Amino acid sequence: MATVKDQNKMEVLPVKREHYSLIIGGERVESVSGETYTTYNPATGEAVATVAKASIEDAERAVQAARQAFDKGKWKRFPVGKRARVINKIASIMRSRFNELVELEVLDSGKSVSAAQGQVMQAIEDFEFYAGAIVGHRGNVNNMPGPFFNYTQKEPVGVCAQIIPWNYPLMMAAWKIAPAIAAGCTVILKPASLTPLTAIVLTEICHEAGVPEGVVNVLPGSGSKIGNYLVEHPHVDKVAFTGSTPIGKDIMAKASQTLKRVTLELGGKSPNIVFDDADVDAAVDGSLFGIFYNTGQSCEARSRLYVHEDIYEEFMEKFVEKTKRLKLGNTLDAGTHVGAIISQDQLETIDGYVQSAIQDGATVLAGGKPAKVEGYENGYWYEPTVIADVNHDMKVVREEIFGPVVVVMKFKDEREVLGLANDSEYGLGSAVWTKDHARATRVANEIRAGIVMVNTPFSAFPGTPFGGYKQSGFGRELCIETLDLYTETKSVLSYFGPKPLNPFGL
Ligand code: NAP
Ligand code: MG
Repeated sequence: MATVKDQNKMEVLPVKREHYSLIIGGERVESVSGETYTTYNPATGEAVATVAKASIEDAERAVQAARQAFDKGKWKRFPVGKRARVINKIASIMRSRFNELVELEVLDSGKSVSAAQGQVMQAIEDFEFYAGAIVGHRGNVNNMPGPFFNYTQKEPVGVCAQIIPWNYPLMMAAWKIAPAIAAGCTVILKPASLTPLTAIVLTEICHEAGVPEGVVNVLPGSGSKIGNYLVEHPHVDKVAFTGSTPIGKDIMAKASQTLKRVTLELGGKSPNIVFDDADVDAAVDGSLFGIFYNTGQSCEARSRLYVHEDIYEEFMEKFVEKTKRLKLGNTLDAGTHVGAIISQDQLETIDGYVQSAIQDGATVLAGGKPAKVEGYENGYWYEPTVIADVNHDMKVVREEIFGPVVVVMKFKDEREVLGLANDSEYGLGSAVWTKDHARATRVANEIRAGIVMVNTPFSAFPGTPFGGYKQSGFGRELCIETLDLYTETKSVLSYFGPKPLNPFGL
């Protein structure tokens, strides 16, 4: 790719390269400490690139850059149409580099190319969505008694620290950056250490599109150091976190010291309910995708499958047979269904859960161990796994596994299955398969979860709110309401009566 100078003087480099830097105040910089680390492809174990590793000094520089860009900068004062135009340009540059972004995402995360394609496309559409949505995001005029006039206006919250996980590296970056900058905020993004590359490239693209310096900064580096520093920093106004529930709790506690605005998108253990009147084939295919998409490393993975006793045998026969046919292997091949596990640690965690289920007396109907994938012996792979004969006391039913493992249970009636579905500390996704519209509506009303999928495995599109109940967090992303979470409402009250006000009567 040509080395064209953009208006922020950041040289445009190829998407895929040997080294990636931090971006602070509109510049590519190395860490003050000089530290770098290597990011690997989990499918092959091969090194992908080196990355600058942010130190505390870098985090401080980024906070100052974002603070200054917010307080003195012009981004929040851009006419909203101009901000929208820049955000649309981010989307169009991403579109023009679609294949390169997909490839980089596949290499850095080990996911299958088909999964990455959908996620990169959604990331693009997120920017397009918020470019449109921000134009209609505005305050109100409120009815007032007497000669008073009140209007509200939406003002950006300020400097936002955004901390994201490794399972959807680019898509999570888009879910965070797009609404924040649309609202006029400035951002310090902390990508997951294991998958920093596409978030860095996205930040570069933001600059190329005309986002002023300091508005989007990116800091690959340790969550416990850099992430924590941002969460505690008095000049950061908001923390938006996506990740595990325990770290979300820690962040909320620490952010309380400076009363930061907090949104948390956390873990899940989402129920998937198949009634006896469902289209069994559609339910089998949808349930398969619902758990094994993205190698089960998905916060809304439908990892608890409840099947009505009358169709249990038919359903399970088909479900297990198709699970065994899922293809693992070359992540760049469109025919590969299930990609790699992100790391050796995660592989061991997943296997630990499966072993605990076996010890508790469960039956493994498919998979159940690390996968041997020819040609990929140095990668991290796990067999798509189906576990039956479980009960609600088992760890494997209660805890998030975050891998290609589903537990299956039989149920008799609607009331019973609703009780089971809601018997979880999580409340992110849920799915119901039935041809009875009234039943689908009843179940949707009774389920304590932020998302209900009726006869579909797809959980989110730009515009549909995404977020959790209970310990799956709070706040909604991907939707119009997200803009409220990146803005404050200012109320302006004015008096226009004929006589001056003298309430003390002196
Ligand atoms: P994680 O361990 O909680 O890490 C998430 C991010 O937080 C990473 O960037 C991590 O940095 C950083 N971090 C770690 N410790 C921190 C600390 N003390 N203070 C501030 N930041 C810290 O989660 P993960 O294992 O990457 O991701 C899997 C989890 O994410 C699952 O529980 C999944 O359900 C959840 N998730 C939820 C959603 C949703 O929308 N609800 C979406 C996707 C994933 P390092 O990478 O350097 O450790
Ligand atoms: Mg990697």
